Amino acid sequence: MSRTKSHEIFARAKHLMPGGVNSPARAFGAVGGEPIVFERGEGAYLFDVDGNQYIDYIGSWGPMILGHLHPAVREALHAAVDQGTSFGAPTERENGLAELIIELVPSVEQVRLVNSGTEATMSAIRLARGFTGRNKIVKFSGNYHGHVDSLLVAAGSAAATLGVPNSPGVTPGTAEDTIVLPYNDIAALDQLFEQHPDAIAGVIFEPVVGNMGCVPPMPGFLEKIREHCTHYGAVMIMDEVMTGFRVAMGGAQQLYGITPDLTTLGKIVGGGLPIGAYGGRADIMGHILPAGEVFQAGTLSGNPLATAAGIATLKTLKETDPYPKLDARTKTLEEGFKAAAAEADVPTVTARVGSMLTLFFHNEPVRCWDDAAKCDTARYGKFFWEMIERGVYLPCSQYEALFISAAHTDADITKTIEAAKQSLAALK
Ligand code: PLP
Repeated sequence: MSRTKSHEIFARAKHLMPGGVNSPARAFGAVGGEPIVFERGEGAYLFDVDGNQYIDYIGSWGPMILGHLHPAVREALHAAVDQGTSFGAPTERENGLAELIIELVPSVEQVRLVNSGTEATMSAIRLARGFTGRNKIVKFSGNYHGHVDSLLVAAGSAAATLGVPNSPGVTPGTAEDTIVLPYNDIAALDQLFEQHPDAIAGVIFEPVVGNMGCVPPMPGFLEKIREHCTHYGAVMIMDEVMTGFRVAMGGAQQLYGITPDLTTLGKIVGGGLPIGAYGGRADIMGHILPAGEVFQAGTLSGNPLATAAGIATLKTLKETDPYPKLDARTKTLEEGFKAAAAEADVPTVTARVGSMLTLFFHNEPVRCWDDAAKCDTARYGKFFWEMIERGVYLPCSQYEALFISAAHTDADITKTIEAAKQSLAALK
């Protein structure tokens, strides 16, 4: 596969932007080599500037659950563009998206639209602190909640991949109010709340982790967070930026039957445009300015284009209910990966929730960051490039879950499994 044009464009980009990119994972640092420069996407496929075609399993890191250039989203965007792109004032589309979120996400009674997942988590923890009058926030190692200073402590994906879980520039004072626990460790959670019964403002967590690869919650773990938050008066913040509208229409809270106090959303809720949202109990949301006293604002929040794409995406999901199909196809892919790895005698384990899947280059189940850190990331990097040469674009890090979209066909899955067979065999 020739990527001459990609190479030329990226060479220019390196002079223009730090590392040539606008977000670190895109630089392919975790798999080595140069990133591919893309020109367009359609359905399940991406096309690079050299005309190569790939089956896309990144989906813009989650948002593209309907596939690229879905007709409903495209039409909604065209209609919105013709009416003007930003007013910084109320619009009916904001109601439309808020109504859909409140209808679909079980725990959300009121919602605030922002511009990214990072803004959503940043605002939610501020609200938790404002509401409780407490300072400490609990997070779990390997969970990523965006680049909020106080949450860039033992973060997963890009941060962990690059070996800087605690970024320079995050002051000790900022990190001081963040308590980090191992994921899936109920005993650690029990102990923490017993030791600090009155100090914890909130617990923020990924209900299914996607940022150390796909790591599902172990039975009882989410329930225990709920129990302690209720008992000790802390705010339970379920970060569904990745899992929202992904693992089920109503997100992980619907899948596992757990009701958080606050939920953060991003990715799919904007249908491929920049958007985030946080919402939950009306009595907590009522503390946000101007209804209450906790400050949060945004020039472009509730933007007409982003809300148009979000509404079109959520409505399409509601009307078509792609979830059973997504689940079945991703299961087929998982089984295919397993069989291919066994045939090639490459030690791996898989983890999957709905259409989130990871093939870990490790021989034991991954339950927390300490397990994930043992993966053979160099081998994953080789596998990644073998798959690229066969026209399959997997996440460019062992520590990112892959996503399947409603546009992926059975034929795409079959082709991907065949590519995996050859790629795993080539690792020997
Ligand atoms: N929370 C989770 C669980 C995420 O996966 C991400 C991004 O990957 C974020 C928050 C941050 O979202 P954004 O990149 O839109 O700021």
